[in-house]
Amino acid sequence: MDVTPILDGLNDAQRQAVTAPSEPALVIAGAGSGKTRVLVHRAAWLIDVEGVSPQSLLAVTFTNKAAAEMRGRIEALLKVPVQHLWIGTFHGLAHRMLRRHWREAGLPQNFQIIDSDDQLRLLKRLLKSQQADESRWVAKEVQWFINGQKDEGLRPRHIDDDGDPNRRQLISFYESYEEICQRGGLVDFAELLLRAHEILRDNAELLAHYRRRFQHLLVDEFQDTNAIQYAWLRLLAGDTGVPFVVGDDDQSIYRWRGARVEHIHRFQADFPGTRIVKLEQNYRSTQTILNAANAVIENNSSRMGKKLWTEGSDGEPIKVYSAYNERDEADFVIGRLRDWIAQGNVRADAAVLYRSNAQSRVLEEALINARIPYRVYGGLRFFERAEIKDALAYLRLTSNRDDDSSFERVVNKPTRGIGARTVEMMRAYARANACSLWRAAGAIASDDLNGRAANAVNAFVSLIERMARETRSLDLHDKVDHVIHLSTLVELFKKDKGEKGETRIENLAELVSAAKGFEPDPAQEMSPLDEFLSHAALEAGEGQADAWEDCVQLMTMHSAKGLEFPLVFMCGMEDGLFPHQRSVADPDGLEEERRLCYVGITRAMQTLYITHAEQRRLHGMDNYSQASRFIAEIPSEHVEEIRPRVQVARPMRSSEASRRSSATTSAANELGVRLGQQVRHKKFGDGVILNYEGQGAHARVEVNFETAGTKWLVLSYANLDLM
Ligand code: ATP
Ligand code: MG
Repeated sequence: MDVTPILDGLNDAQRQAVTAPSEPALVIAGAGSGKTRVLVHRAAWLIDVEGVSPQSLLAVTFTNKAAAEMRGRIEALLKVPVQHLWIGTFHGLAHRMLRRHWREAGLPQNFQIIDSDDQLRLLKRLLKSQQADESRWVAKEVQWFINGQKDEGLRPRHIDDDGDPNRRQLISFYESYEEICQRGGLVDFAELLLRAHEILRDNAELLAHYRRRFQHLLVDEFQDTNAIQYAWLRLLAGDTGVPFVVGDDDQSIYRWRGARVEHIHRFQADFPGTRIVKLEQNYRSTQTILNAANAVIENNSSRMGKKLWTEGSDGEPIKVYSAYNERDEADFVIGRLRDWIAQGNVRADAAVLYRSNAQSRVLEEALINARIPYRVYGGLRFFERAEIKDALAYLRLTSNRDDDSSFERVVNKPTRGIGARTVEMMRAYARANACSLWRAAGAIASDDLNGRAANAVNAFVSLIERMARETRSLDLHDKVDHVIHLSTLVELFKKDKGEKGETRIENLAELVSAAKGFEPDPAQEMSPLDEFLSHAALEAGEGQADAWEDCVQLMTMHSAKGLEFPLVFMCGMEDGLFPHQRSVADPDGLEEERRLCYVGITRAMQTLYITHAEQRRLHGMDNYSQASRFIAEIPSEHVEEIRPRVQVARPMRSSEASRRSSATTSAANELGVRLGQQVRHKKFGDGVILNYEGQGAHARVEVNFETAGTKWLVLSYANLDLM
């Protein structure tokens, strides 16, 4: 019997890590070997056995969801809630620090966070206002430059232009951008980190305070920290703090965002005497899946080198499906998901992974058609939807009139007669007087505008004032509700015909529910509204609307990091898509793609499907691709190729259907249809049968009509003429 249940369910190496003395430690281990588990147990161990106050712990995870999970697990181990434990993402923790020390940070108390979309708009406006040559300066590239510099901890004055006029211009954009943000109290994601670092670096008292406070710094997914995150950590640790970091060099997948796997080596140099713990036993996946992962990652040259193994079973082979096109691929996934659900499995245990976000649309459509609930994890985010951002912009203005990006967003939405010319005048005034658009509006309405325009601007100003006044003493959700009401956004979207407008109105309603369900943290020294707005910006999408429903999980391979699922599909495994086209020629880029593939494979616990399509329409273009080279890197003894079981002669279109499993063949045959068969429909005209499913009254066929496109029809209603 152990001294404490905290050590139950850990192997020897894991225990060694969990109970290590208070010295810097680096747990470097492969996927699924229990790194995150070790971190959780370490926190509980420190609190329960070493008697460390939860206040003295700082834990960093990769997503807000992971942070919530980690807190839950620590509390479960301790059997009591832990308050005052700082746990979150680097961004979340930096934000928390800035809220507390806004003065030291040189920010207004009600500073607002802007997401990358807001940032991009702001930059577009900036380029325009400076009359930058559009053919030379692309807002996205300027954004990339600015964030890249911030990730390295650099302000414009730190950057050398190397005598390069191009670079000089970028630095100057960065400078102007900074001014605008400072004026409006706007803070982008990279800025959160940079400023959190600067306030500690430049403020000896504050630094001393936090160094005293945070004795133990626990970090998950350490391989993906960027320069500024690492610098912040190192500063906080000083000579007395005890960093305890876990990571896997083979899972470093954010180099493109400034992450540096070299921090693993740097750490050992910066913290001499670092204790290194290696874990190799895997508790997640079957041996077959591990063999595949080991074989793929072995093709990378720069790695520390580890081999995963399990005491568990070999499990089933990895199944590779070669689809005709992306729709056929989606249909295949749906078929297998259906089987899986029919076997009584939980939908949330199945994940569909893809390389690029745009791939989700076809999969989503297929899931919707099949009525399988799904959730896009970290994808299309609730708080990023246009109508939500409109409502939030009004709310943000009630809290901070100087928020230029919100001002621009809704000053004429719904239209209220404030034209582009008036807005341009406000911008000019704001530039000339280094003030916000709000102030500019007030000034030009009384001096420069004609009667009609002035009235329109005044109406907007009084609308915002009214919103602020009438909601001052309301509860958060009533506030949100009332601001939406006064904004007349609902009336605006009612004019959108069809589903789109309806969805938008539903989403606005959902925002009120989100506010209702929102629990402000009393430890955060800010108003519930400001906290909610920050939450909206920070947590966008991580907890999607219908979080309670059992859903299949869709996500990019990047977002899947740290997660595990009994059933995993890796879709779109084609050269050019994965590995991504832009990485194929660059050896470092290719290695990063391979690590991403390793991350994908090691998410699977029992069953792994890999699919690729011969032809894929993506971003409106047709591509014809080879199967990904990563598939060929998996030894064939671990792979089972799934081949079409129904053979029909080409015509091309019907070959797509021929790849379907045979499960539905007999049922459809009873109905007397066959793949590739010509049919005629009264309304849609001539077509060819691509696919069929279901039985009896439920039997449906997919027909590609020459003019009407592809449709699913219920056979018993469709009245098809079979030819
Ligand atoms: P990743 O690299 O993907 O983040 P990880 O190293 O963080 O993985 P965990 O997620 O902590 O791995 O653990 C993988 C799975 O193995 C989890 O389900 C965990 O509960 C389980 N596990 C880890 N260690 C043990 C153990 N000693 N006994 C039983 N199960 C374990
Ligand atoms: Mg982990």
